[in-house]
Amino acid sequence: MRRRRNTKIVATLGPASSTPEMIRALFEAGADVFRLNMSHGSQDDVRARHAAIRALEAEVGRPIGILADLQGPKLRVGRFRDGAVQLREGATFRLELSGEDGDETRAVLPHPEVFQALSTGTRLLLDDGKVALEVTEAGSDFAMTRVVEGGPLSNRKGVNVPNAVLPIAALTPKDLSDLDFVANLGVDWVALSFVQRPEDVAELRKHLRGRAAVMSKIEKPAALERLDEIIELSDGLMVARGDLGVELPIQEVPTSQKRITRACRRAGKPVIVATQMLESMVVQPVPTRAEVTDVATAVYEGADAIMLSAESASGAHPVEAVSMMDSIALQVEGDAYYPSITQAQRLEPEATAADALSAAARQVAETLRSAAIVTYTTSGSTALRAARERPRVPMLTLTPSIATARRLALCWGAHSVVTEDAHNFDEMVDKARATAKADGFAEPGQRIVITAGVPFGTPGTTNVLHVAWVT
Ligand code: PEP
Repeated sequence: MRRRRNTKIVATLGPASSTPEMIRALFEAGADVFRLNMSHGSQDDVRARHAAIRALEAEVGRPIGILADLQGPKLRVGRFRDGAVQLREGATFRLELSGEDGDETRAVLPHPEVFQALSTGTRLLLDDGKVALEVTEAGSDFAMTRVVEGGPLSNRKGVNVPNAVLPIAALTPKDLSDLDFVANLGVDWVALSFVQRPEDVAELRKHLRGRAAVMSKIEKPAALERLDEIIELSDGLMVARGDLGVELPIQEVPTSQKRITRACRRAGKPVIVATQMLESMVVQPVPTRAEVTDVATAVYEGADAIMLSAESASGAHPVEAVSMMDSIALQVEGDAYYPSITQAQRLEPEATAADALSAAARQVAETLRSAAIVTYTTSGSTALRAARERPRVPMLTLTPSIATARRLALCWGAHSVVTEDAHNFDEMVDKARATAKADGFAEPGQRIVITAGVPFGTPGTTNVLHVAWVT
């Protein structure tokens, strides 16, 4: 089974998409990676979905990626005596570290670290920015605020503090428990929400101990300020536009998206564009023209993956949403403008053998109009460097590691096949030819371009570029 597009699709699973039949339907419609959102549902739900994905993978014989998304230090107000209150613009509203259920004049905010970071003038946004407060007096366990933007506020609604770096741990006790749980189940990527600083990513990496690749969700202005350092420590990034659009003035979301995708492409690390891509499909069977254009923009931009959240997790049309993304990506990638836009952003190779050979492989394959570039990779790093070139020629990745193949499910253009390493040069060429033919990449009489590291089995040794005829 071979997909005809390079941009990958991530589908979040949830109540609308938890049965094995539905997961299979999403895969068949085009989902390459499934996201397990640890903010919702129980560990038992996650275990069942994980098992269904792995069973499907065994059945279809294609590597499928699993991304576990940790909730991170999400801030919330406490409960209200009557469940909800109405805050009026200009009114005074008190936040307290602890106390009784809230009312029109006060609410509990059970996060001591937040009070440490507040000062006069700090803005707090509640319920995705629908309500805004400005601090007029800050204490160690309370803050007096003025309601800048009024509206309803109900139990446990989210709180954002955009203009402060909060002295909170990157991983909450729930995250640590979820992390161990998903690492033991065996997931391919773990994403961390509300990354503020590079140290947060280092913390996740320390706990993960190599059991999955590390994804940083960029949704805080503080993370944007240290973007390059965060990319350096991460294996991939997510443009988490939901919270990003609350934390930043919303008109800065598109420019931030461009900045993050370009920085990831420069670094050769996978980047996902996420949230509200086809939001109206949560209820409607057909998206808006603006949503279709938003998905197309991410594809033109060369994002590795585009993501569905509520559309596939809890919406009324999960399969149609995946099919819609699939057809938009195919349409864009088939557009005559697509290669020139992608190539205009191509970057110089770095001074490594993997980069030099990946750049050469792309050039040779395009010049010879080869059927495919076949990359042998152990850790996946050479495949990522090959993808960084964004070649016009399809990419086939051969790896002895199922973990690598699953992680690469998120990477632009990578079609991975798990196969034992070759023992010698002839076997390397034969395997590449046979797999290219078997997976529909090449026909007899066409040429393929192969990169590999000889001797096999030592990561980081890419040193061979070979052109072979398929017979
Ligand atoms: C987001 O905020 O855009 C996001 C992807 O995170 P979550 O779905 O966890 O809110």
